[in-house]
Amino acid sequence: MVTQVQIIQWIQVFASVIEHNKEELTELDAAIGDADHGINMDRGFRKVSNLLPSFVDKDISTIFKTVSMTLISSVGGASGPLYGTWFLRASSATAGKKELTEDDMLKLLQSGLDGVIERGKAQLGDKTMVDVLSPAVEAFEQAVNEGMGTVEALRVAVSAAEQGLQETIPMLAKKGRASYLGDRSVGHQDPGGTSAYFMLRSLLKVVES
Ligand code: ADP
Ligand code: MG
Ligand code: MG
Repeated sequence: MVTQVQIIQWIQVFASVIEHNKEELTELDAAIGDADHGINMDRGFRKVSNLLPSFVDKDISTIFKTVSMTLISSVGGASGPLYGTWFLRASSATAGKKELTEDDMLKLLQSGLDGVIERGKAQLGDKTMVDVLSPAVEAFEQAVNEGMGTVEALRVAVSAAEQGLQETIPMLAKKGRASYLGDRSVGHQDPGGTSAYFMLRSLLKVVES
């Protein structure tokens, strides 16, 4: 079971990972975009961090909704609406839940991914966060179907996400600013895929501890 307290910890850990890797995310975006991904994400998650004390007595769905609204209103760029949509779908997927079973977690992860795909229209192989989120959801689903609990299934999902992230390096970008570079986008790791990997790794870290 993933508890409301762990959801808050997850957001806290993700915000701090973003803060500590702000330069790395921005450098990745400097290579194939406009050098602001770390700045964008840090701006949004700094705002979210300031709201953390108010999350203590909120339910899981409301917490996700608040994160979504905060990101949409403060991040900008492509990643703002995309992460905003991810958290909005996470909010809908967890409506009325006091804690999350592995099936609830699957629904959350799947809904978030579906939202990103509907909003951004990226397909697998387009060199975006979808190339990280999608294999993670698939691996999580398979692990749950094999009878694994949330922690084990998330370990498998994070490995799949990491592999998906590595696989963005040789890809040619077909969506977002990196797509303007054409062939020159090849050979660089996707910045949004990197932050998506951090998001899943942060969740694993919290549920493992
Ligand atoms: P911007 O490109 O507007 O400056 P960011 O730098 O914050 O926004 O985010 C860039 C990241 O957003 C990319 O690395 C990619 O992972 C993701 N991204 C861009 N466009 C899309 C899309 N259409 N679908 C999914 N992800 C996308
Ligand atoms: Mg950018
Ligand atoms: Mg930008």
